[in-house]
Amino acid sequence: MANNQGSVFVVCGPTAVGKGTVLKEVFRRGTNLWYSVSATTRPARPGEIDGRDYFFVSNEEFDALVAAGDMLEWAVVHKVHRYGTPRKPVERAMEAGKTVILEVDLDGARQIRKTMPEVKQIFIAPPSWEELKARLIGRATECAEEQARRLETAKTELDAQGEFDVVVVNDSVADATEQILHILGISE
Ligand code: 5GP
Repeated sequence: MANNQGSVFVVCGPTAVGKGTVLKEVFRRGTNLWYSVSATTRPARPGEIDGRDYFFVSNEEFDALVAAGDMLEWAVVHKVHRYGTPRKPVERAMEAGKTVILEVDLDGARQIRKTMPEVKQIFIAPPSWEELKARLIGRATECAEEQARRLETAKTELDAQGEFDVVVVNDSVADATEQILHILGISE
């Protein structure tokens, strides 16, 4: 392994916890960071761009990636669509000495813990269950059925937060960003 090999961090957290907002701020302020764009069978939402937000693939394309061993991990999220981390871009970013961020669900985090035990795992938690519900309902991007499914997943995820190396409570985006930058070893 080369000396300048970059390190990898997993970021996990329930729906609507504000992962996207916090990570955007972390990437704005941090240097040498590299975000792993996942592949998913979920259709793109309005405004999402293929290759930037996700690689939007068909079920057949996803099957082929898995069969070829091209997924570092993958999981069925919220019981519906498959999401996975393409392996080669991550390996290239590590070789280039980047600090790699993998945003994955609980299942994916568990797989990475087995295959890459050296990877530090960060869990982003809401200040409270009530606040999480309010954020999910408030953003109004999912129908009631999908909201219920996401809250069900969120319960399981919150119950598992003790498995993670560090828990960051997203009380304020600024504080959560600060804590994550510190965990990544980025000081300004
Ligand atoms: P959304 O559909 O809201 O974009 O994402 C739903 C969830 O899928 C995210 O909260 C994240 O936990 C999970 N996810 C996104 N990318 C990956 C991935 O590459 N692997 C796994 N295991 N989960 C992912």
